[in-house]
Amino acid sequence: MKSLYRSEELVLERAEKVLASEPENIIEEYQFLCDEYKKLLRQTKTLIRVADLMQSDLKMLSEELGKVSRIDELTELYNRRYFRELFLQEWKLAVKEQKTLSALMIDIDYFKKYNDTYGHLEGDQCLKAISKVFQDTIRNPEDHVARFGGEEFVILLPGCKAEAAACVGKKLIENVDALSGCKDSVLYGKNVTISVGLASVIPDKKSHMHDFLDQADQALYESKAEGRHCLRIYDSSEN
Ligand code: GH3
Ligand code: MG
Ligand code: MG
Repeated sequence: MKSLYRSEELVLERAEKVLASEPENIIEEYQFLCDEYKKLLRQTKTLIRVADLMQSDLKMLSEELGKVSRIDELTELYNRRYFRELFLQEWKLAVKEQKTLSALMIDIDYFKKYNDTYGHLEGDQCLKAISKVFQDTIRNPEDHVARFGGEEFVILLPGCKAEAAACVGKKLIENVDALSGCKDSVLYGKNVTISVGLASVIPDKKSHMHDFLDQADQALYESKAEGRHCLRIYDSSEN
């Protein structure tokens, strides 16, 4: 870059000298300066092209980095870190607009036994297959599906009341059940089920967002305690 500037300065200096002195061989000087100038133009164009390429590489890299920081590698669902961000945004919006927010906490039943029976790699395939069911079932772009950790998932349904959210939760249980009868699924012939806990709230400024997730978790705990493979709804009157 420095040498490009220097070459440009030299061409200009020479052009100024030519103009001041009016030499006899002005045509040759003029031709020489034109050639030098064209050379510099070509170099500048190359530099601009390289800068453009570097910029698009940089854009791609930063997009890739953004994706990696948001997505769980195995399941391709949102990861817990990104879920926290989304949850905070949705919570603030629900407080402001006084809209219902529902959360489904989901856990795969007896997954340790699945790993013990089929091996950890098969366990990973199971997590992928179930995550795909969640993604295929939750079609509303405003809803957020995330891997909460291990074999636990959370789905946030903004603007969705308890009754509708319960229907979504039951549909998830059914769609996971259906995998055992699906010949091209890794879960074909295997009896894998999920348990679901649901909490719904219209939050106000005094509500705590973490209490809300705890409520969904308590409902999940109830569905486990009541035999698994079912959905339970958090009931505030009992607590
Ligand atoms: P419950 O019905 O009470 O939920 O029983 P569970 O066996 O599903 O629950 P537990 O907490 O005892 O076991 C969870 C298992 O999930 C143990 C752990 O090895 C497995 N697990 C967690 N993350 C992964 C993963 O990324 N891949 C695989 N293959 N297994 C995982
Ligand atoms: Mg489990
Ligand atoms: Mg668990």
